[in-house]
Amino acid sequence: MDEVALRRSIIEHCLEMNASGLNAGTSGNISVRWGDGLLVTPTGIPYRDLAPGDLPFMRFDGTWQGPLAPSSEWRFHLDILRNRPEVNAVVHTHPPYSTALAIKHLEIPALHYMIAAAGGNSIRCARYETYGTAALSEAVLEALEGRKACLMANHGMIATGPSLDRAMWLAVEVETLARQYVLTLQLGGPILLDDAEIDRVVEKFKGYGMRSKAAPDLPLSVPGATTVGSATSAAGISPPDRRSCKAHRRR
Ligand SMILES: [Zn+2]
Repeated sequence: MDEVALRRSIIEHCLEMNASGLNAGTSGNISVRWGDGLLVTPTGIPYRDLAPGDLPFMRFDGTWQGPLAPSSEWRFHLDILRNRPEVNAVVHTHPPYSTALAIKHLEIPALHYMIAAAGGNSIRCARYETYGTAALSEAVLEALEGRKACLMANHGMIATGPSLDRAMWLAVEVETLARQYVLTLQLGGPILLDDAEIDRVVEKFKGYGMRSKAAPDLPLSVPGATTVGSATSAAGISPPDRRSCKAHRRR
């Protein structure tokens, strides 16, 4: 993809982020690795008013060029891309369910096998730090250790990926998991999958490497995985598992 096409794609993904309900207004921001830095959404401009040339280019030393200043949240975008060479795109939004959990400093536990799409058996919640600070970057990088997504306390969510399509896809999945978690908390709490099962699904996801175009290395569903956690009744309604529920409260 050439630079103009990439810039156009970032704007299209911003519009998609709002159309899908993943974001409201201009609170979200997107970055994509480019050359020795990144292209990042500018600060405070409605996405529909953006032209490809408006997106600032930032070098990894923090200097930037462009007609508009980078998002006020550029720092963690830059720090994630600088510290995680396998990541090429970062999507950050304040979607309702992920943010509700983050306001309660809750991480998302292994309530569904799709949690493995984020790289492990949980989606952690980064501790609260003021937006735009190096301290927030540090908190986010810790929460992203071995993961592709995280929540951010009293703030929102971050999803990363080897491409912008993948990062955006994961952002939707994380918000879906967050919504499922909030709903099951109302039913007494989820029954969680064990670590061995999540490890299996993480491996299965890796195996789908070249097959899917829509969500490049991930299936929309994993055959056979629906029987996992079959301790549930036929109706799928089970007594609350309070032990599991407490176990994932943020320490
Ligand atoms: Zn934010």
